[in-house]
Amino acid sequence: MSNKQTRVRFAPSPTGFLHVGGLRTALFNFLWAKKNKGDFILRIEDTDRAREIAGATENIVATLKHFKLDFDEGPNLGDRNQESGVGKDKYGPFVQSQRLDIYNKHIQILLDKGAAYKCYCTAERIDELKKQADASKVPFKYDKFCLKNPDPSAGSGSHNFVIRQNIPEQGTVEFEDEVYGRIRVENRTLDDGVLIKSDGWPVYNFANVVDDHHMAITHVIRGEEFIASTPKHIHLYEAFGWPVPKFVHLPLLLSRERKKLSKRDGDVAVKEYLDKGYLPEALLNFVAFLGWNPKTEKEIFSLDELIAEFDLKKINRAGAVFDPDKLDWFNAQYLRNKTTAELVELVRPYLPVAAGEYPQEFLAKIVEIERERLKKLSEIGERTSYFFIEPQYDGELLKWKNASADELKSSLTAAKTMISNFKSLISETEIEDNFLKRIGDADKGTMLWPLRVALSGLKASPGPFEIIEAFMSLPKGKEIMAKRIDLALEKLAKL
Ligand code: GLU
Repeated sequence: MSNKQTRVRFAPSPTGFLHVGGLRTALFNFLWAKKNKGDFILRIEDTDRAREIAGATENIVATLKHFKLDFDEGPNLGDRNQESGVGKDKYGPFVQSQRLDIYNKHIQILLDKGAAYKCYCTAERIDELKKQADASKVPFKYDKFCLKNPDPSAGSGSHNFVIRQNIPEQGTVEFEDEVYGRIRVENRTLDDGVLIKSDGWPVYNFANVVDDHHMAITHVIRGEEFIASTPKHIHLYEAFGWPVPKFVHLPLLLSRERKKLSKRDGDVAVKEYLDKGYLPEALLNFVAFLGWNPKTEKEIFSLDELIAEFDLKKINRAGAVFDPDKLDWFNAQYLRNKTTAELVELVRPYLPVAAGEYPQEFLAKIVEIERERLKKLSEIGERTSYFFIEPQYDGELLKWKNASADELKSSLTAAKTMISNFKSLISETEIEDNFLKRIGDADKGTMLWPLRVALSGLKASPGPFEIIEAFMSLPKGKEIMAKRIDLALEKLAKL
């Protein structure tokens, strides 16, 4: 293990896929480590076996990798890595279920010091105590019965006991949080919580502290919901005689209504965002602003710029509002900055299957048309399907103001003839010039509205010149447009 000045860890429990809040915790840890040329560790806290979700660890590891939040150490993957084909990764994450020996050794130290004790109370007795607490409207606290009455069968080796933390009954416990300031709690408000369950597995509070010490963690950066557990952690550090790391609790994520963030407000797996076509760099930029702020006007930050700019002192205490519109805004900014070739590759998975048969230049034209309007990649399919699939629409849509069906028909026929005379790869401006010359002083809409509808089948779409330009880049473009105009003429005839 290195002796770096700054060592941080992201310690998720594999109880689900990585969510936006988890990504924020991982990012802030990563930024702080990199800023200080320190180490970033990933530790999977999987001691609550009942709550573990299959595939969650893999999802967490893969998601961090996707965002290039690489961790710096972990158990050597060796041959296992070769077999699983994970690539050139040297390490896996630390996994608590593989470290039970360490916790067993350390619980003994606490038992020997009297900082922990075995509790043989039955589940019925604990339930009864909880009921009494409920009835008196006070939080449940174990009454230290087994501390005062050690069971004669202790030492039998059987596991029909739990091990509890022995919290002093008097006094206070204090710690300095880098974000929330000094926090002071009366010991009498703290429960002698379980450290080792009756099946021998450690609980979060215990394994977490043992690992943070053994991994030489200097800064514990995690969600605000863990402030309540921290006093118990401090008691553990003190019982072991270990130095206490710095604590940095991150503000709660709130909905736009300033309520706790729910699934409906966007608290879903990060993978869902990626699948919808949010770019990792846009998501990271958005997430960086959830509780942190550079205190300048600058909003667009690359990962390297974030590392340079990030500072724990600039983390806010107030809840961080998760605004999905802001995420769309970030994504649109990043999409706009992609080259056309990059965008074509990015949108490919979201285009209709038929798009696979079209040449790159055509896709490039389409992407150019949509680039400024696109908020997420997944929108491209719906917005551009008419380029690949003959549009279905109601003939009524072809009607324009007071123009008669005959006027519409003759202007569409004229448009068809003009298009048939265009040279391939004609530019949008040339197309526009040709049409405007032809229309002269007549009403533009009488020609351009039915033409746009004939080509797109949509009430709202990009303008006809842009669409024509894209089709003109296809060898069969003129044919496709002629066919669509004929179809529109048939529809007009039936009106
Ligand atoms: N395993 C805890 C969690 O699920 C980690 C809390 C911590 O970082 O200490 O988030």
